[in-house]
Amino acid sequence: MLNPKGNNMEDQNRLPDSALKVNSGIEQPPSVDPKAAQHFLRKRKSLLPAGEYISGILAGNRTILSRAITLIESQRADHAKIAQEIITGCLPYSGNSMRIGITGVPGVGKSSFIEVLGKCLTSQGKKIAVLAIDPSSERSKGSILGDKTRMEQLSNDPNAFIRPSPAAGTLGGVARKTRETMILCEAAGFNLIFIETVGVGQSETAVHSMVDFFLLLMLAGAGDELQGIKRGIMEMADTIAITKADGGNIRNADMACQDYRNALHLFPPPESGWLPKVMSVSARENSGINTLLDIIFEYFDHVNESGFLEKRRMEQARHWMYTTIQEQLLDGFYRDPEVSRQIKEMEKRVMDGGMTSFQGAIKLIEEYRKSF
Ligand code: GDP
Repeated sequence: MLNPKGNNMEDQNRLPDSALKVNSGIEQPPSVDPKAAQHFLRKRKSLLPAGEYISGILAGNRTILSRAITLIESQRADHAKIAQEIITGCLPYSGNSMRIGITGVPGVGKSSFIEVLGKCLTSQGKKIAVLAIDPSSERSKGSILGDKTRMEQLSNDPNAFIRPSPAAGTLGGVARKTRETMILCEAAGFNLIFIETVGVGQSETAVHSMVDFFLLLMLAGAGDELQGIKRGIMEMADTIAITKADGGNIRNADMACQDYRNALHLFPPPESGWLPKVMSVSARENSGINTLLDIIFEYFDHVNESGFLEKRRMEQARHWMYTTIQEQLLDGFYRDPEVSRQIKEMEKRVMDGGMTSFQGAIKLIEEYRKSF
C-alpha cells in the first residue's frame, strides 16, 4: 500500500524508528471524523424539493417513497406542508390498485396469511404494499407489523413494500396518514395494497372506509363461533376466511364455515350486490390461498362492471372530507392558547354545578372564535 507521498507503507513499518511506524495490533483511528460523518448523513437526510420526491415515487424508488411516508407521519409543520405537496403531485397517478382491508383478532394468523398471500402475488409479478392501522401501537410499542420478524420473507421481497402503522396519534390521524400513504404507494406502482388492522376496536371501520374489499379472518372456535367479533364487523366483510384450517383443525374450520354462511344469510343484502363468501385457509399448508385470490379478482370484476367500485370510492372521498373537517376543527380548537388556558377552569365549574355543560362548551367556543 502506498502512503500519500508514494512510499510503500509496509517498508516504513519495518523501520524501527520511523515516525510513520504503525505498531501492529493498534487500532487505527477512523479516517473520517465520526461527528463529520453524522453531520453528512443528517444533511443527506435533509428535505428535498417536493418535485424530487414525486419523481422518485413515480419512478418506483422505494427509498424516496419511505422518506416521503416519513414526512406524512411527521408532526412537524414544515414536513406536513411538503407532504401535502407530494400527495397532491401523486394524486393523479393513484387509484389504480386493488385496496384490500384485512382484519382479525391478534393471533388469528393475519401476518402469516399476508406473507403467504403476498408471496403468491409477487411470484406472479404483482407488486404489493402492506400498510397497517393500529392506533394502539403507541401503547403496545407497535403490536402490529412492528415486530421485524413478522412477514420475514415478504420483507425481503423486492416486489413487496411493508410499512408498519404510524406510531403516534389518534385513530383519525393514523387513518388519514395510512390513506395518504396508500396514495403514494399507488403512484409508486403497487398493484395491490393491503391494509391490516386488529379486529378489536374502531379501526376496522376506518379501514373499511378506505378499501374496496374487506376480508375478515376468523378462528374456528369450539361452539361459540359468532362471539369473537362484533356483528357490525361481520356485516362489513366481503369475505370471511377461517384461518389455520390444517391438521386436526380442518373439521372445525369446515363447521365454522357453515355456521358463518348461515349467519350471513340473516344479514340484509349488501349494497354492492356481492354476496359475501366464506371459506377456509391455511397459511401453514398454503391451502385456500389461490381460491381466495380468485374470489378477490371475481369481486373486482363484479364491482367494476356494476360501477359499484367507482361509487364506493366517491363516497369514501366524501366521507374523508367530512372526517378531516371534524378533525381539523377539533384540533384547532384544542390547540388554541385561550381555550387551553381556560378549559380546566371551565371543566371545574361545570362539575361544581356553577355552569351547565352547554354553557361551558359555548363559552369556550366563543373564546376560540375570538382568535379568528
Ligand atoms: P396475527 O397476530 O393475527 O398476525 O397472527 P400470526 O400470523 O402472528 O399467527 C399467530 C400464530 O398462529 C402463530 O403462532 C402462527 O404460527 C400460527 N399460525 C398462523 N397461521 C397458521 C396456519 O395456517 N396454521 C396453523 N396451524 N397455525 C398458524
